[in-house]
Amino acid sequence: MDAHANLTEQLESLVGEGTVLEEEPLRDHTTFCIGGPAEWLVLPRSEAGLCAVAACCRASGVPLHVLGLGSNVLASDEGVRGVVLKLADNLSTITVGSDGRVAAQAGASNAAIAAAACDAGLTGYEFASGIPGTIGGAAVMNAGAYDGQLSDVAEWVRCLAPDGHVMRLDAEEADWGYRHSRMMEEGHLVLEVGLRLAPGDSAAIQQRMDELQQRREEKQPLELPSAGSTFKRPEGHFAGKLIQDAGMQGHRVGGAQVSTKHAGFVVNCGDATAADVRRVIADVQAKVRERSGVALEPEVRLWGF
Ligand SMILES: Cc1cc2nc3c(=O)[nH]c(=O)nc-3n(C[C@H](O)[C@H](O)[C@H](O)COP(=O)(O)OP(=O)(O)OC[C@H]3O[C@@H](n4cnc5c(N)ncnc54)[C@H](O)[C@@H]3O)c2cc1C
Repeated sequence: MDAHANLTEQLESLVGEGTVLEEEPLRDHTTFCIGGPAEWLVLPRSEAGLCAVAACCRASGVPLHVLGLGSNVLASDEGVRGVVLKLADNLSTITVGSDGRVAAQAGASNAAIAAAACDAGLTGYEFASGIPGTIGGAAVMNAGAYDGQLSDVAEWVRCLAPDGHVMRLDAEEADWGYRHSRMMEEGHLVLEVGLRLAPGDSAAIQQRMDELQQRREEKQPLELPSAGSTFKRPEGHFAGKLIQDAGMQGHRVGGAQVSTKHAGFVVNCGDATAADVRRVIADVQAKVRERSGVALEPEVRLWGF
């Protein structure tokens, strides 16, 4: 048996048949609908299974990537080698305590957590209800919207460290900043996040989430695949405005285009390749730097380039 087949068998023995997909197209697991194959895409059904897969990768020197809902990832057309552990859907238990505390496994979606909090009459997570990712992804990226960010409501994060030990970081140890965290810096895999929310009125919470969703639908190109804001907000500026001022709104390469609705988004008009998106990103960066002297940094995570 060759090394690839041997590892497939090992992985299946750890997480069960049907949960190890070989050469699985990442375009089917990212909101950009772009990306070549993952050598293995593994869907662990338990935390123990996840930790065992990570240990197996460590022991055999196989690269390990973590995917939530793929809403902030641009995967290359060649795909990625090694194992992609997809946490969304399976590791998604949400536990609502009686004291405003919520514990959510990393694969739980922000939408599901916001809905559970609303049902329980807990306020504080409305800002995240329309961020189309998992809480694991939100913790790593310190996702934020409409004057809220994950670090405002997170009390702790339980992680699998690169050396294989499970540890709990309190909020002050997570080193959250703008779209930044210690987990991102040190390569920790987020297993679970603890939130502290406040008592509120379910009807008012629902109303606030509906208002925010309406604002998203009005401003953002939700009708086309994307990974949200392509660039981080440069200090003192808005990326969208800089892109408009540089005359790049609507700029298109192949199937990738700077959205005509919101210049901060690059969208997939149907048949975009990752190379098209990379070209658009590079063109925008060059023109913005030329026009305003500002260096735009991608917010979207680039895989396999
Ligand atoms: C239409 C649209 C609107 C958006 N609006 C917003 C917004 O308002 N605010 C905002 O902040 N973002 C926004 N985003 C971007 C995206 O939704 C967020 O960054 C989100 O937090 C990513 O979560 P995810 O589960 O999809 O992560 P993925 O895209 O799957 O992963 C993103 C990164 O986090 C890592 N990661 C994911 N899960 C884990 C984990 N458990 N442990 C360790 N690393 C992990 C991945 O390896 C990757 O590097 C938007 C995206 C879209 C498509």
